[in-house]
Amino acid sequence: MNYTRIQIDTATPAKPRSKVMLIYTGGTFGMTYNETGVLVPFDFSLIKEQLPALRNLYLEITVVAFTTPVDSSNISPDHWKAIGQIIFENYASHDGFVVLHGTDTMAFTASAISFMLPGLRKPVIFTGAQLPISQPRSDARENLITALEIASARIDGKPVVPEVCIYFDNQLLRGNRAKKVESMHFDAFQSGNYPALARAGVKIDYNAAAIAQPLAHEFNLLAAFDGAIAILKLFPGIQQHTVEAVLNCKGVKAVIIETFGSGNAPTADWFITSLKAAIDAGIILFNVSQCPGGMVEQGRYETSKELATIGVISGRDITLEAAVTKLMLMLGEFGVEVTRAQIGKPMAGEMAG
Ligand code: ASP
Repeated sequence: MNYTRIQIDTATPAKPRSKVMLIYTGGTFGMTYNETGVLVPFDFSLIKEQLPALRNLYLEITVVAFTTPVDSSNISPDHWKAIGQIIFENYASHDGFVVLHGTDTMAFTASAISFMLPGLRKPVIFTGAQLPISQPRSDARENLITALEIASARIDGKPVVPEVCIYFDNQLLRGNRAKKVESMHFDAFQSGNYPALARAGVKIDYNAAAIAQPLAHEFNLLAAFDGAIAILKLFPGIQQHTVEAVLNCKGVKAVIIETFGSGNAPTADWFITSLKAAIDAGIILFNVSQCPGGMVEQGRYETSKELATIGVISGRDITLEAAVTKLMLMLGEFGVEVTRAQIGKPMAGEMAG
C-alpha cells in the first residue's frame, strides 16, 4: 500500500497538547467535487482550512493518506495489514490514532484491528461520514473533530479509551461489537450487545465501567490472515444441496452458521448429518446468531441441542463482523487446532466470557 505523509500543527503558536496520527483510507468522508463537478479525493494538506475548529484541539497531527483511497467495499486483509502496520510502527511516537474509513465495512476493519494488536494501550478510533466533507450538511466535520478529541483524551496522563472503537453520530462504540445498521441517516452504527463507551453531547460522557482495561500482554502485531472460511446463512426452506455446497467448499477450514434467535437451526436428519460430516472432516463450525441482540445458547431449545452434541462451537454474543475477522486471523496466525480450541473464548472484548 502506498501512502503520503503530511505533518499538521493545529496548535501554533501554542505548544501541541497531544500527538495524534490520522490514517485516511478512503470512503465517502474524503470525497469532494472538483471544478468540473467530479467527485475526487480530498487534499488533506487543506484540512485546517476545511475544519477551522481543529485549531481549538491543540494537536500535532500526522496525516497518513492512502495514495489510492479505497471504497470500503474493496477492503481486503492486505489493507488491514497495512493499517495495523502503520499503527504498530508509529505507536511509540503518537498518543492516539484516528482511522478514516468507508462506513460499509468499517465494523470488519475495526474488528480485525482489535484482534491484530494484543496489548494495545492507546486509542484507535475509526470514523467516517455518510456525506462527503465538502457537503454543507456533512457529518464528516463533527465525526472527525470528536474522534480526534477522544483519541487524545487523557486522565492522569493515561488514555481514557485504550481500545479500538468506532465513533459515529455522537456515539463511541467498541469496534468489535459494532455493526453498520443504516445507510441513509447519520446514525449508521449500533452495538446491540454492548453499551456505548461514550456519548458526545455538550461534553463527552465516558462510560468508565464499559471501557476495557489493557491486558497485561506485551504490545504486538498479528497480521497473518487465512481467508479459507465461509458463511452459511440459514433461512426457512434452505435445501440440502445448498447447505452441502457451502460446507464442501474447496479448501474451507471454518464455516460460520448464521442461525436463528438464540442459535437455533432445523432439526432435520439430513441437516444434522451434513454438519456432522463437516465436523468429522476437520471443519470448524461456528454458531453466530442472525439477531443483532442477544446470545447463542446451544441447548436452550430442542432446535439447538443437537448442534452442541455434534461439536458446533457457540459464538455466544459475537457479531458476524467480529466472527469473520477473528476466524481469519486465528487461522492465519495459529492454525486450525488452536483456532478450534480458542475461537469460542473472548480475545479482545468481542464476546461475553
Ligand atoms: N461506499 C462507501 C464506503 O464504505 C460508503 C461510506 O463511506 O460511507 O467506502
